[in-house]
Amino acid sequence: NTERKAQIGVTGLAVMGANLARNLARNGYTVALHNRSVEKTDALLAAHSADGDFIRTETLQELVDSLESPRRILIMVKAGSPVDAVIDQLVPLLDEDDVIIDGGNSHFPDTIRRERALAEKNLHFVGIGVSGGEEGALNGPSIMPGGSAKAYESLGPLLEKISAKAPNGEPCCAWISTDGAGHFVKMVHNGIEYADMQVIGEAYDLLRSIAGVEPAAQAEIFKQWNTTDLNSYLIEITADVLAQVDAKTGKPLVDVIVDEAGQKGTGRWTVQAALDLGAPVSGIAESVFARALSSGNPEARLQAQQQLPEGLIATTAVANGDEEFIEDVRKALFASKLVSYAQGMDMLAKAGAEYHWDLKLDVIASLWRAGCIIRAELLGEIMDAYKSETPANMLLAPAFTALLEDLVPSWRRVVAKATAEGVPVPVFSSSLSYYDALRRKRLPAALIQGQRDFFGAHTYGRIDSEGMWHTEWSGDR
Ligand code: NAP
Repeated sequence: NTERKAQIGVTGLAVMGANLARNLARNGYTVALHNRSVEKTDALLAAHSADGDFIRTETLQELVDSLESPRRILIMVKAGSPVDAVIDQLVPLLDEDDVIIDGGNSHFPDTIRRERALAEKNLHFVGIGVSGGEEGALNGPSIMPGGSAKAYESLGPLLEKISAKAPNGEPCCAWISTDGAGHFVKMVHNGIEYADMQVIGEAYDLLRSIAGVEPAAQAEIFKQWNTTDLNSYLIEITADVLAQVDAKTGKPLVDVIVDEAGQKGTGRWTVQAALDLGAPVSGIAESVFARALSSGNPEARLQAQQQLPEGLIATTAVANGDEEFIEDVRKALFASKLVSYAQGMDMLAKAGAEYHWDLKLDVIASLWRAGCIIRAELLGEIMDAYKSETPANMLLAPAFTALLEDLVPSWRRVVAKATAEGVPVPVFSSSLSYYDALRRKRLPAALIQGQRDFFGAHTYGRIDSEGMWHTEWSGDR
């Protein structure tokens, strides 16, 4: 058969699949295209055939027939049952050692289940986390592949070629670990993204309501912050969002946008998985809850604004545009951001032990340096922190303990000020509590163990003896 064959096929040509297919073609691969309804395939070919070498197919059988062996088929359809539907249709058409890749935002337990089922049929199933949205898919996303090491041998070179490149030229793609590890890491990436966005939101609210800095002036502040160790994609776009003026009203656009944040579920999955692992991702959880509070309770918010008195607000004033306060907020933001990443990394370490994934935290940090939404200068330092030896907690790596020493006084002043003024700062404050709880000599958990033993004979450990103990408590019951 002298027919031209493709190195990879893509099925599901909505925005993400189309852009990944174009990225692959631009990098010199022959890409076979398929979509359930052929219109999307034809639209892609009509608009972008100049991107490279595509093979048009109308059916999954044609797609399979157009691929070199072992076949690589990237599924980019809607997450959930459509992925199972496509897998079920593909399986009877494939041969041993072919590779099915799911590049959508699948939930990691689904990926574990699918990998197991396909391994029994001698097929490889690789769940890959892809971050960077439409733009990343086209120009270079951060890619987090799971699945077997053997499948990565055949797939890795392609994925590394189309991935984002870190400032030092390294690809932001490396094998994470088996089965659902790639989708798990992408999920935690999104959890950190939620926290990152919330802390920026809290900083904005503080600058606005306590220091009276209007959005246009804040845009300049965020631009300047982007030249400090806060340098990151999210800080950069925040400056642009704050600078935007609404064409209709002439007001800052941020003032015209309804203050109800949406979510598609990956933050919630992160927190659910963290609860199962016993990983204290308090900042990530607060950021998911903050979105829920903003959007899920319109009537309660409206009534509360009318009925609940603001309470005692008695603090020293902050002058409009007070530079010391603004610098305090910058430092509090950075400290809270450090905690969010520390909690995410801790969750990954716990997941590695639970799910038997050999997760390399320095490699994972390295994949997030470019292409993805949480890309930040800080990730280079996080990577270094995990390179030589794994700290018990990221905050305990020497580079970060030194940093925190500088940040903590500002962080305390800002949380105290926000609390006194009635400005909600759920992630700033919970992150500070996490830091304080970690370093505290005695936690009130001792009292909780006493209570548990009192009402349920749950026993407790003693500071001066081995084993577990129970007391016949002498209170009235
Ligand atoms: P999408 O809107 O999630 O899905 C639309 C595609 O799925 C269409 O090609 C559609 O085919 C196909 N489809 C739906 N049900 C199907 C079924 N039962 N059988 C076969 N095909 C079916 O597309 P998207 O926005 O490009 O997203 C694709 C994946 O990437 C999703 O998992 C999404 O969560 C993820 N995503 C990731 C990012 C990121 O930043 N990483 C951003 C956006 C999306 P028809 O054209 O025939 O309807």
